[in-house]
Amino acid sequence: MARYIGPVCKLCRREGQKLFLKGARCYTAKCAFERRSYPPGQHGTSRRPKMSEYGLQLREKQKVRRIYGVLEKQFHNYYQRASRQKGVTGENLLRLLESRLDNVIYRLGFAPSRKAARQLVLHRHFTVNGRVVNVPSYLVKPGDVVAVREKSRRLNIIHEAMRRVTDETMLPWLRLDKAKMEGEFLDYPNREDIPIDVQENLIVELYSK
Ligand code: SF4
Repeated sequence: MARYIGPVCKLCRREGQKLFLKGARCYTAKCAFERRSYPPGQHGTSRRPKMSEYGLQLREKQKVRRIYGVLEKQFHNYYQRASRQKGVTGENLLRLLESRLDNVIYRLGFAPSRKAARQLVLHRHFTVNGRVVNVPSYLVKPGDVVAVREKSRRLNIIHEAMRRVTDETMLPWLRLDKAKMEGEFLDYPNREDIPIDVQENLIVELYSK
């Protein structure tokens, strides 16, 4: 599956907020957004005209795509799937993205970023309900148990990432057993429990045109 391989800090600067795409570096003074919080490019520091309604909707969609590391076509497929489900489409969309295996691994604290989680999944370091899964977009369901494979339990990158996780930082729809290096996806999250600052209704408006 294709993925974005360009400079990632530029993406945060383009969206005007920290998207936390680089793991530990995002929490230090080395963060590019902390140093240059204006858009990238020659005219980054010039005054920009007020954004159109379409521009606002587009930026919101790009922001969510970039946070979860999903390319355009796949993102549109998620939207279509979300729109067929019962309930609020924008919230369904975020729930689908949150249930991606690479995201669940990142949220459980087994990886410093979604990008790193994706790499670890591709290298077959995780199981879902005891079976190795190497597809980052695999959708985890309530009750599924995601675990670090026995032979991968010594990996430094996983231990480093897990050091930052505590019971207090764990999200309510996940349960982590640090000693066993496994976590359970308890249920699909409520919107208010998803810690990302986006207006998903703008994405729905964009795709509904
Ligand atoms: Fe974004 Fe992280 Fe780069 Fe900062 S360090 S600009 S939060 S990706």
